[in-house]
Amino acid sequence: MSTSSTINVAIFGATGSIGQNTLDVIARHPDRFSVFALAAQRNVALLKQQCLQFKPRYAALADVNAANQLRTELRAENCATEVLAGVQALDELASHPDVHSVMAAIVGAAGLSSTLAAARAGKRILLANKESLVMSGQLFMNAVHSGGAQLLPIDSEHNAIFQCLPDSRLATQRAQAGIKRLLLTASGGPFLRTPASELHDITPEQACAHPRWTMGKKISVDSATLMNKGLELIEASLLFAMSPASIDVLIHPQSIIHSLVEYVDGSMLAQLGNPDMRTPIAFALGWPDRIASGVESLNLIQLSKLEFEAPDEARFPGLRLAKQAADAGHSAPAVLNAANEVAVAAFLAGHIRFMHITEIISEVLQTHAIQSLPTLDAVLEVDQMARHHAQRIIQHRNLMVQH
Ligand code: NAD
Ligand code: MG
Repeated sequence: MSTSSTINVAIFGATGSIGQNTLDVIARHPDRFSVFALAAQRNVALLKQQCLQFKPRYAALADVNAANQLRTELRAENCATEVLAGVQALDELASHPDVHSVMAAIVGAAGLSSTLAAARAGKRILLANKESLVMSGQLFMNAVHSGGAQLLPIDSEHNAIFQCLPDSRLATQRAQAGIKRLLLTASGGPFLRTPASELHDITPEQACAHPRWTMGKKISVDSATLMNKGLELIEASLLFAMSPASIDVLIHPQSIIHSLVEYVDGSMLAQLGNPDMRTPIAFALGWPDRIASGVESLNLIQLSKLEFEAPDEARFPGLRLAKQAADAGHSAPAVLNAANEVAVAAFLAGHIRFMHITEIISEVLQTHAIQSLPTLDAVLEVDQMARHHAQRIIQHRNLMVQH
């Protein structure tokens, strides 16, 4: 429960990897933060445990049956948390007047509505849900500005760049800041050294076994195809108002340097740390203060080396597709994102093969006629069109894996 001196935080996607890491950091600072609301899709068991530990005023599940079950179970435990149900409830919580900070950590387009609601309501948004920004682009950035929201990136690369920018509070003065380019680092994923001939037979289990980070399934597959880096390139260009051409991707297998900013005088600033999402989460929760995250100190002497190389766009076409979408702008990133979500879900369900993911995205993107997206309805319409197209390709082009 909140006290007058603590900051009220609402966590969307509380039961996921980012959500759990956020609660881990918050638990270290009971004098600073209160959990006001926890929201997720349908994981009753974990959300119940989180409610009993953090005693939020509200809990919400998008799935109505799961919400009813949670309500019954919390009552049996005499827990005072009020349980809300359905998508609308999430939007209401994201804009609730008593909420100060919103952790946007729902995965995929499902996070757009609540994240946008938080932007319009002028909250501090801790943005993990990159898909919502990629699909709604300038519409989202405009909502942040007109709503008076603060946008703090949680994606480790963008958080690193934010930390390496001159004065993160002076976004309007960036043009004079002498920034030459942004360098987004990428671990390269589990198949960095896998020959092209073997990529076809990759299983979902192999794709989800990331060498450096433990994450949800969707972003793990995105990391394996490098589509995650593609989405991050679009994310960076929107967050920092930089052209896609001034953002380079750099493979750095150790994941110690989380990204860099190059200045016109030849300086490059980097942010280093152990690969642990609690660092960017603590940075954004505490900003502009620095607070403890529980992350181990980086031991530079034990690090044998830091390596860098160019990405291989022939084996990982996702990156090239994302650059195309970033250059085209308007509806192209939303189409890329929607086709990717459908293809990744089909791959995880065992319906298509690994290399089909980028084939499907490419086909949906190439046939799409770019249009502007001035409203949320326009964004959702393009998202649905691209999803249907991707589904049709999966069903009709014989991509289904034979069991
Ligand atoms: P995850 O799969 O572990 O968790 C997803 C969360 O979203 C769960 O709490 C789930 O209940 C919730 N959710 C899913 N669909 C929902 C719906 N329809 N309505 C309401 N809630 C829903 O995913 P994650 O790894 O925590 O990633 C979350 C987001 O953060 C993604 O956008 C991802 O790209 C981004 N991100 C994650 C990491 C990481 O290290 N895990 C790093 C950078 C960015
Ligand atoms: Mg990232």
